[in-house]
Amino acid sequence: MSRGILFVLSGPSGAGKGTLRRLLFQRLPGLAYSVSCTTRQPRPGETEGVEYHFVSEEAFREMIAQGRFLEWAKVHDHFYGTRASDVREVLERGLDVVLEIDVQGALQVKKAIPEAVTLFIDPPSVEELERRLSCRGTEAPEERRLRLMNAKAEMEQARSYDHRVVNDHLEEALEDLAHLVEFYRGKRMKE
Ligand code: 5GP
Repeated sequence: MSRGILFVLSGPSGAGKGTLRRLLFQRLPGLAYSVSCTTRQPRPGETEGVEYHFVSEEAFREMIAQGRFLEWAKVHDHFYGTRASDVREVLERGLDVVLEIDVQGALQVKKAIPEAVTLFIDPPSVEELERRLSCRGTEAPEERRLRLMNAKAEMEQARSYDHRVVNDHLEEALEDLAHLVEFYRGKRMKE
């Protein structure tokens, strides 16, 4: 059985990457989502092991020291990381894995696994991103300001990604993303 493909999905908070990822999973079979570890508090409605593994900062630092992360980063004041063993096992089972991580993490993954495919979701504009974040209302104004600043920095760094998809119209962005996944699957079949 051939090894799965590792897709790395990034994009600023509010660009719609979570929604796109969920729709992509409904549309294409054979994709596995890697649940990250984080030190941030669960939001209302989030469940341990579904959106994240919620861990203490002490436990997170211990995992860093043990070299258990494929990548990790501090994003908006909290730690986030992908456990190497989770990803490896799923890829070896032949499933394609999707990581939804920030730019710092994506660059670490690309360095460790050059064949990983990096995909960046762009908002139509920074103004639209600001509007979406304030409509979502899940962050306090200060947290929102921080996320917006990070968004601008992430969009600057996104030049090194393999592909960028603008999420102006959800259906079209989903179509673009699904085509990209299918393109890489087709390429693997030929190899
Ligand atoms: P949120 O707190 O809104 O769920 O996520 C904040 C940011 O952290 C998002 O950009 C998300 O993609 C990123 N993130 C989530 N999990 C990971 C991870 O395992 N590693 C890295 N580097 N970033 C992550």
